[in-house]
Amino acid sequence: MTSPDPTRPNLAAHIERGLRDLRDLVALQSVSAQGRHLPETAAFVTRLLEAEGFTVRAYPGEVAPVLVAEAGEGPRTLLIYNHYDVQPEDPVALWESPPFELTERDGRLYGRGASDDKGELASRLAAVRAVRERNGGRLPLRVRWLIEGEEEVGSPSLERFVAEHAEELRADGCWWEFGSIDPGGRPVLFLGLKGVMCVELRCRVAASDLHSSLGAVIDNPLYRLARAVASLRDDGGRVTLPGFHDDVREPSEADRTAIARIPGDGQAVRDTYGVTRPLATGPAYHKRLNLAPVVNVNGWGGGYGGEGSKTVLPAHGFVKLDFRLVQEQDPARVLGLLRAHLDAQGLEDVEIVELEAHQQPARVDAAHPFVRACVAAAWEAHGAEPVVQPSSGGSGPMHPFREVLGVACVAAGIGNVGGRVHAPNENIVREHFEKGVAFGVALLERLARGSSS
Ligand SMILES: [Zn+2]
Repeated sequence: MTSPDPTRPNLAAHIERGLRDLRDLVALQSVSAQGRHLPETAAFVTRLLEAEGFTVRAYPGEVAPVLVAEAGEGPRTLLIYNHYDVQPEDPVALWESPPFELTERDGRLYGRGASDDKGELASRLAAVRAVRERNGGRLPLRVRWLIEGEEEVGSPSLERFVAEHAEELRADGCWWEFGSIDPGGRPVLFLGLKGVMCVELRCRVAASDLHSSLGAVIDNPLYRLARAVASLRDDGGRVTLPGFHDDVREPSEADRTAIARIPGDGQAVRDTYGVTRPLATGPAYHKRLNLAPVVNVNGWGGGYGGEGSKTVLPAHGFVKLDFRLVQEQDPARVLGLLRAHLDAQGLEDVEIVELEAHQQPARVDAAHPFVRACVAAAWEAHGAEPVVQPSSGGSGPMHPFREVLGVACVAAGIGNVGGRVHAPNENIVREHFEKGVAFGVALLERLARGSSS
């Protein structure tokens, strides 16, 4: 990238070097779900960091090594969080170029991990290199970097790791692993993540299926599940579980202002997916997407679903649900509320089975100084007003960073809406990688100077 403004850094060489790192990283098939090449990739990342003056410690994780790196010195400390593992490349036949060969086509770079999360990692490392070079070979702030290899399998080691290594990780702000650039070229910053709790409700009324004539005298498990599900939400999408909203924290003035400035109202999403039943449009759209807790019915099972009719009274059925939670909702408390609610309605026989690990919500207020520093750096690097989303609608392991370290986390990165993360033909836009390096330089130097905005 050649910058027309002579006062701005020329980062061309660092960008090229960063793209070579990205190519090497993509070539390492670090699929955590299949345990492929995880120690090798951790070792490669270690060498990259050591070459930039980092001290790197590798700790055993449940699935893959957890790396903690540190370099630089100054009054401010920045923590960076990334991951070196990727999702499986299947289905391979749908890739237009080999998944583990970084391939450029029409201004985009394709490959597994190009975006999530190796592109982020490589662009940040390029920024660190540039800042070192611009400061005579030393980093003018302390950078701590936590890089795990288990993010794509739910970060099973992270919560405990953060608690046990809190002293090594303390910082004034945490640059979270992802972020994006919208179709209008505006950087999108996320100040938090929703929590998530996945459960299965199960109901059984007999040891085996029965003739449906017996429905006159024996209850139906799918009917009972339907009643349970119907009691959890109203037609407007508001969760009706008693006590559910008690811990929901009201948004601050700064959060409300940020939400009001987010462009659009989801029309692109509705068009892309041919949505026929939106629950919120207009100003309510971003407010709910950012700050409203949700219950989703993910799927049903039980009884006969084949062709024509079968007059059966099924013995059992199940329904899968996820709850997307917001601050300060606690998954364990919501689970207790759900049990009490089902019992209160005479649905004691509807069993609740917890699926995978819960994640707690976490976010930081839009008025926090580290948020202001990130927003200012994004303005500077992208030449466009950043879009500030108080929370992503999605979830992730941010909670221990907020709760244990007390550090403000901001997601700012190089993803794009057509980035096909987790899918075939994952990609980044080359120009976004360049802007990502520029953002990293702007953020690090801003923090080193001690100016937040
Ligand atoms: Zn991912």
